[in-house]
Amino acid sequence: MHDIKCIIFDLDRCSFNTPVYSTGDVPGFDYTYGDMHHVASLTQEKILVTAGDTEVQQQKIARVGIAHHFAEVHIDTIGDKESIFKSIMSRRMLQPHRIMVVGDNPNAELGAGKHLGMVTVQTLRPTVVRWAEADFHVTSFAELDSIISAFDAMSRRRGCTPL
Ligand SMILES: [Mg+2]
Repeated sequence: MHDIKCIIFDLDRCSFNTPVYSTGDVPGFDYTYGDMHHVASLTQEKILVTAGDTEVQQQKIARVGIAHHFAEVHIDTIGDKESIFKSIMSRRMLQPHRIMVVGDNPNAELGAGKHLGMVTVQTLRPTVVRWAEADFHVTSFAELDSIISAFDAMSRRRGCTPL
C-alpha cells in the first residue's frame, strides 16, 4: 500500500502543452506531453485542478481528452488553489502528506501544496524554470511511479527514526 492516497495534477505546462497550443491549435496535434498513459496506470485517486477562465480551460481539457483519467476536475477562477486543495483534503479526511501535488508553478499549485504540507512534484516541461523547494522534480509522468515508491521508503525510514 502506498502512503500517497491522492494525486492532484495541474493542467497548463504540466498535463497540457500550453506554450505550443498558444501559437495556434493545429488539428490533430497532440497537446499532451505524450505521457498521460503513465497517469492512467497510477492506482491513487487522481484529481485535475486548473486555474483560469472556465470556458478556456474546459476547451483545453476537451481538446486533449484527458478528463476520464481524473475522479474530479476543478477549475479555479479566482486564483486560490489552496482553498480547493483544503477542500479535497478535508472531504477525504486525508493528512496533507498523503496527497501529492504535481505541477509546474511555485506561485500556484506547488506553493499551495507546499504551504499545506503536501508532497510537491515539479514537472520540468520545456520553458518551466526549476523550483528548488519542490520535494521532487520530473521531466515526464513516467517518473511518478518510482517517485511515489521512493517517498514510501523515505516515510518508512522516518517512521523508524526518532526525531
Ligand atoms: Mg501550470
